[in-house]
This record gives sequence, structure tokens and C-alpha cells, in this order.
Amino acid sequence: MKRQVPSKEVKEAVLSRLVDRGVTIEDIAEIVYIMQAPYNVGIKKSACMDSVRAVLEKREVQHAILVGTELDRLAEEGMLSEPLQSIVESDEGLFGCDETLALGSVFGYGSIAVTTFGHLDKQKIGVIKRLDTKQGNAIHTFLDDLIASVAASASSRLAHRLRDELEAENERAAKEGRIQKTQDKNN
Ligand code: MG
Repeated sequence: MKRQVPSKEVKEAVLSRLVDRGVTIEDIAEIVYIMQAPYNVGIKKSACMDSVRAVLEKREVQHAILVGTELDRLAEEGMLSEPLQSIVESDEGLFGCDETLALGSVFGYGSIAVTTFGHLDKQKIGVIKRLDTKQGNAIHTFLDDLIASVAASASSRLAHRLRDELEAENERAAKEGRIQKTQDKNN
């Protein structure tokens, strides 16, 4: 019988893989903060961290990270066969499988996630910029897109959560006859 891999094992592999590849939850949360701060004044870094952690709980996201970072790692070791080795190694602009793999897991988080992913893919904010800049033998062809995907999903998730919290607070305020709050701008 084939082995059914326990979820816990997959999750732990993903978290340690991110560490191995030089990305922390704080790095991803930083991008979420930059994306959401203009729309939610007073947003907390800890809320961004929680949102990133929640996205990393998703199996679809975990699998994409394992596949993409494995290919990056194998390319670093020169283990892929040609012509894929050269394509991944050079981060060939027309390759596109890195974006496609990463994009697949943002759809579950709605349109804000999709548009934020597109924005991050172009603007390369925070750790994405560092990953995209070639340093020594490191290859992050897949990782930069995967991080953009996690950050985009976590941003969208947080935007929806904050609206829910605001509405719940307003309902309480209305009941108690207090003044209602508004969100600074809508996403
Ligand atoms: Mg890429």
C-alpha cells in the first residue's frame, strides 16, 4: 500500500523548506503589511503574521511550495535535465510555469488576492525583490512567485477579515447607540 503522507508532516516540511530557502514568516508578513496598511489604518503586524500562517495551513499552498522550491533546489545543484536546467537556472522570462504554479493557489482567496499577486509580480516588494536579484549560485525562479502568492492570499484574507470585524463592531455600536466606524478606503 502506498504511504499516505500525514498533513502535519507536509506542513512541517513546508515551514522548514522556507527557512532553508531563506524566507521567514516575518518577511512575508512585511509584504502583507505594505499591501494592506493604506486601506486599514492601525493594522497590526501580528495580524499580518497570523494571516500568513493561516494561508500556509492550506494544502494547495503547501504542495505548490514543495514543488516549486524542489525545482529551484535541483536547479541549484545542476540536477535537472536539459533544457529545463538552463531555463530554470536563467529564470527565462517566457517560461511562465513559476507564475502559473503560484497563481493556482491564490484563486481560493478571491479577486483581491489575484490582483495583489499581479501587482507583486510586477513591483517585487520586500523579500521578493531580494529573491529576484541573483546572488551567487542561488536560484529562486519559483520561490519569488510562491512568496508573492502567499503574501497576496494573506493580504486578501486579512482585508476580508478586517471588514468582518468592522461590521461586527458597528453592529455592537448600533445596538449600544455609539457612533459607527468606517474603513478608510475600500480594497
Ligand atoms: Mg519567478
